[in-house]
Amino acid sequence: MAFLNDNYLKLRAGYLFPEIGRRVNAFCEQDPAGKARLIRCGIGDVTEPLPAAAVEALRDAAAELGHRETFRGYGPEQGYPFLRAAIAGEYRQRGLDVADDEVFVSDGSKCDCGNILDILGPQNRIGIPDPVYPVYVDTNVMAGHTGEADAHGAYAGLHYLAGDAANGFVPPPPAAGEPPLDVAYLCFPNNPTGAVATREQLAAWVAYAVEHDTLLLFDAAYEAYIQDPALPRSIYEIPRAREVAIEFRSFSKNGGFTGVRCGFTIVPRTLTARAADGSRHPLHALWNRRMSTKFNGVSYPVQRAAEALYTTAGKAQVAALIAHYMGNAAILRNAAAGAGLRVFGGENAPYIWAQTPAGTDSWTFFDRLLREQNVVITPGSGFGRAGEGWFRISAFNSRANVEEVARRLAKVL
Ligand SMILES: *Cc1c(COP(=O)(O)O)cnc(C)c1O
Repeated sequence: MAFLNDNYLKLRAGYLFPEIGRRVNAFCEQDPAGKARLIRCGIGDVTEPLPAAAVEALRDAAAELGHRETFRGYGPEQGYPFLRAAIAGEYRQRGLDVADDEVFVSDGSKCDCGNILDILGPQNRIGIPDPVYPVYVDTNVMAGHTGEADAHGAYAGLHYLAGDAANGFVPPPPAAGEPPLDVAYLCFPNNPTGAVATREQLAAWVAYAVEHDTLLLFDAAYEAYIQDPALPRSIYEIPRAREVAIEFRSFSKNGGFTGVRCGFTIVPRTLTARAADGSRHPLHALWNRRMSTKFNGVSYPVQRAAEALYTTAGKAQVAALIAHYMGNAAILRNAAAGAGLRVFGGENAPYIWAQTPAGTDSWTFFDRLLREQNVVITPGSGFGRAGEGWFRISAFNSRANVEEVARRLAKVL
């Protein structure tokens, strides 16, 4: 008999989005009129079509594969040189030190955020923001880095970094005297709160990491949404970050690649971690080995499509997509604030994070908005205990839907 991975049994039943789906389906069955009016501002998936530059590149690359002279089989596991150069070149244009071979192209940053645990030891003390994208917690549970969950869904063995209205949902590093973290996840602009760390706040994390020999896992999936030029878009804008940080990026939210699948991870050659015997080794070599062994690269047409996002036309098309979603975000943010709710986010991120009225819990408010206004939002408690009493509104939608949601929000509150 085969034994299973018991860690999977520790996972809390009903990952957030399946539970939302279950409640929405049940509602639609019992209220067909409500079903017809339903507007989804829940799941963080893009809605607008692919930029034309990416579509053309996909088509051209597919045609190349159809001719003997230009056919390609397996590509390099780390990504084609043309895409690694385009990505690193963009960093260097911003004055940041990233070499082509420090870029690892993948089929998306959700995978990388989980896979990175392959090269890290089981004994790390791990800091995870709360609330945050649930993938960091769940992949650590699967890897056996935690104990059981308590009644609030908090796992023994993880160190939660609580965001709240007082810290603007940008948790500071642990105070002096607390046991130091070996690994800390950071996600800015944040999913779900839309909060972005300032340069000073990020510098405090890098200083902490340098002092305590902490590895920072920086998820910058939404960097393209940052409007304020003073806010850092990459952890490598902070001096010495190359000694302490891995950065995850994705084409999902800027280029609309959620269904195309492409992202990348930057592992600086200057980044090291300890072996159990205390010796230090570069993580770059381990990640390279991990990708070579367990991954066979992203498809050629998809990498050509990602490359096209770095052309002049591609950049203009991406900018137009971002402008559309950020226009939506402004409408939703104003609607929620106008209804008297306390709001964060929506200014440098496609998510608005709002406090439920009168201390209602997140799921009760979710049900109420679904029943009374036929609007689907995401309950904040699904992103961690500190998200209780809050909800996330996604700006990924058509303008017409967003304007209608703004009208409905004014009625419910
Ligand atoms: C959407 C998202 C990603 C990107 O995931 P992909 O696998 O590249 O589609 C990564 N991190 C966060 C926080 C996200 O919301």
